[in-house]
Amino acid sequence: MSKETDIPDLPTEITPQSQDFGRWYIDVVRRAELADYSPVKGCMVIRPYGYAIWELMQQGLDRRFKATGHVNAYFPLFIPESLLMKETEHVQGFAPQVAWVTQGGTEVLEERLVVRPTSETIIGTMYAKWVQSWRDLPILINQWANVVRWEKVTRLFLRTTEFLWQEGHTAHETAEEAEAETKKMLGVYKDFAETELAMPVIDGQKTESEKFAGAERTYSIEALMRDGRALQAGTSHNLGQNFAKVFDIKFQARDKSVQYVYGTSWGVSTRMIGGVIMTHGDEGGLILPPRIAPYQVVIVPIISKPKFKETVLPRAQAIRDELVGRGIRVFLDDRDTQTPGWKFNEWELRGVPLRLEIGPKDIEKSQVVLARRDTREKSFVQTDGLADHVAGMLDSIQQALLARAVAFRDEHTTRTDSYDEFKQIMEGRPGFVIAPWCGSAKCEADVKAETQATIRNIPFEGPSGTGKKCLKCGGDATVLAWFAKAY
Ligand SMILES: [Zn+2]
Repeated sequence: MSKETDIPDLPTEITPQSQDFGRWYIDVVRRAELADYSPVKGCMVIRPYGYAIWELMQQGLDRRFKATGHVNAYFPLFIPESLLMKETEHVQGFAPQVAWVTQGGTEVLEERLVVRPTSETIIGTMYAKWVQSWRDLPILINQWANVVRWEKVTRLFLRTTEFLWQEGHTAHETAEEAEAETKKMLGVYKDFAETELAMPVIDGQKTESEKFAGAERTYSIEALMRDGRALQAGTSHNLGQNFAKVFDIKFQARDKSVQYVYGTSWGVSTRMIGGVIMTHGDEGGLILPPRIAPYQVVIVPIISKPKFKETVLPRAQAIRDELVGRGIRVFLDDRDTQTPGWKFNEWELRGVPLRLEIGPKDIEKSQVVLARRDTREKSFVQTDGLADHVAGMLDSIQQALLARAVAFRDEHTTRTDSYDEFKQIMEGRPGFVIAPWCGSAKCEADVKAETQATIRNIPFEGPSGTGKKCLKCGGDATVLAWFAKAY
């Protein structure tokens, strides 16, 4: 620990996952050079390797946002106090986490500013100016930004005071359109998580007590981490006319009457990087799904001095160029300061999906060695048609990671109608527990107080709770809820 910054030194070893999952997570994040602590309490530094993952996530999301008719814009970082205070429920939800700006230079501000914890209020204010007629609707805007929510505990990527995210804010003519938009964007998140991150998610509705402050309904996607805890990976909110009424976002309807718009907002953040780490990682460190891996293939030339530079290296460079030409992200690790064994270990730890080894003997036989990170299987592959083979293998790794994560989630999802059994299950590393619930906030709160488990969501699909009795009070159940201990 250095005195100047209080930032602990980088770990040299990774704590075994089985020994201490939390320690393992932090070790992987720091040792794989994804992120680090900073001299600012609660704030992290996202290092280039971690930021490259975020950029790939952004691309995957942004492509989907545009394909569903959304456009990007940018709104101010600061929000005047009076704007935030307009929506009572919203204020109460965010007040404990808000950072204030009280002074600019040497002048004390007449009105305090908050650093945005989310942007409904400032965006709503602008929409009120931009919307006059039904012809101005819908507004489908997304913002890529940073937000600040004061946190007492720091967990890299999972809980930090400042984080990066996107927030979509839309305005519609009718309640039906807003509801369709809210669900559509949750569907986009689910598709993104499963296709790009190989992270299976449960999509459903949040309970009243867990919904967004100021929303009518909140929907979420929930993933299961390898320690049996759930992670909320994205949310989509139907704001109804709440913000429209407060911010006066009115329009002349088709029948000439004056109406308030119906709003939605939806967001995912850098927290998803934490989700990827905890969904796929193993004792060897990080495992990245190929679609979001900054390097999908690392080439390690097997050094045979003195002819390395004349023989192996040119061949390795030619292979790199061939793979890059095919659109594959490749890193050729030609450092002569490290041994091949050291490089194998390093890139395994940093989660590169595929390692390509090539030495003098391989060149003689017109072959290379491919080693998969997920299964650690090695195979000899002919250099003829190599790019096709590698591309196919990356696809199969992507599929295998998703299948493995689905299997893990299914193995760690149980059903019970008995509260005694529920409590027993929640003592270990439970995963999801599906149980009947009457819909009362008191039962939900009591279960949380006694077991730490919260209702993650009520899935859109799945059997109803009709005919069952509430886990906690024994009254008639209305739904089957998915409970878990969560991040
Ligand atoms: Zn109950």
